Amino acid sequence: MLDSANLWRQIQFSGRYLVVLLRKCLVFRQFWHIPSQSLWPYWPIRVAAALLLMGLAGCGSPRYDMIRGATMGTYYAVHFAAGESCAINQQQIEASLKAVNDAMSTYQADSELSLINQSLAHQNNVLSSDLRFVMDAALQLAGRSGGAFDVTVGPLVNLWGFGPQAQTQAPSAKAQAMASKAVGMEHLTLDGSRLVKHLDSVYIDLSALGKGFAVDQLADLLADMGCVSYMVDIGGEIRVAGLSPRGEVWRIGVEVPDPSRFGMFQTVLEVTDNSVATSGDYRNYRVVDGRRIDHVIDPRSGSPANNTVVSVTILHPSAMWADAYATTLMVLGLDAGMRFAEQEGLAAYVIARLPQGDLVTDDMLIDVLPADPLSSAEPAAEERFEFRYTSAMQPYLPAALSNAVMMDGQ
Ligand code: FAD
Repeated sequence: MLDSANLWRQIQFSGRYLVVLLRKCLVFRQFWHIPSQSLWPYWPIRVAAALLLMGLAGCGSPRYDMIRGATMGTYYAVHFAAGESCAINQQQIEASLKAVNDAMSTYQADSELSLINQSLAHQNNVLSSDLRFVMDAALQLAGRSGGAFDVTVGPLVNLWGFGPQAQTQAPSAKAQAMASKAVGMEHLTLDGSRLVKHLDSVYIDLSALGKGFAVDQLADLLADMGCVSYMVDIGGEIRVAGLSPRGEVWRIGVEVPDPSRFGMFQTVLEVTDNSVATSGDYRNYRVVDGRRIDHVIDPRSGSPANNTVVSVTILHPSAMWADAYATTLMVLGLDAGMRFAEQEGLAAYVIARLPQGDLVTDDMLIDVLPADPLSSAEPAAEERFEFRYTSAMQPYLPAALSNAVMMDGQ
């Protein structure tokens, strides 16, 4: 049954589909060049003939182009329904990505953010508008999440080896305590576009929302140009609009949280005009002293988040917020994370590892897909997962979770 939200989405999809059809079908200019007086008496016949021709010519299927490349230590891919007004090129995309890197990369020593990180306390740092926008969002989320999300976590991220310099050993308790001293949003002040650090050692790391921000920038670029249907993907942070090449809403896969099953999907979200971001502990981790260490740090403990959550997928109109919320829920853990997501009205899909031997009902369990026969990695023995999603996520999930999922843009 369609509720009002679903009905509205369906109306929006149909409207957009019509716009795409009309744009493409302007090629049949002879139909539109006929003077209106002579068209009027025969318009039903002409429209029917036009629709028939459109169908025969396949003009309801716009051509999709794809531009790919590398950025921020990962890939980017932009798929779009190309047209007269939608003709973006690689230079424009890379210029936009370069602007984000120049502003907020901690991997680029001369970026605006790196210079602030190297600066001394009590200096006035006047932020560019992009950096101010992202810092403002980071401060808001730090407050709302009770400090679970905190971009001053940089010294700890670096100490645990997940920053620009890799580390091979777990840090000592002393080093951890030292690094923690500069962690906390109270160590900086953002007043309009003026940022002041209160300690020399404050080091801001925007990796948890910077990729999402870059996705939003590219999506805005496409939309400003008049593009209607597109997918922007930077290292798995995704924003989509309009329709996929199949003429349907976009389908975005949620990966099985298991390194031996890369490329396989646990479920599929059906979305448009929205962003999807996933944070997980199954791709970016290290094994230290026999323990798997995640790149998401709990600023409250100074250590990598140590809870059962292995993957969080958030759906949000802004890729930056989706990205930031996904990291926040990874830190909060399953129960607190779900409570926070409901409280914030978030569409969240969370996968958590079950302790071995736990008793669970079948409907809580994920039906883990068969191992990839080409993969040489051994699946983790007896790993069992449970999943939970918020009420706001429900409309985007398929009625029956499919095991054979074809993704758009793959
Ligand atoms: P997410 O969950 O989205 O983010 C996790 C990251 O957020 C952690 O790695 C850490 O940096 C930070 N973090 C951890 N805990 C917290 C917390 N509690 N609160 C807030 N933040 C936290 N990588 C490279 O290898 N080379 C590059 O040249 C490079 N350039 C980059 C440029 C920019 C502008 C950005 C934003 C990132 C860049 N990266 C680069 C980083 C790389 O893309 C990261 O791996 C990525 O941003 C982390 O994203 P994720 O989806 O893996 O994890």
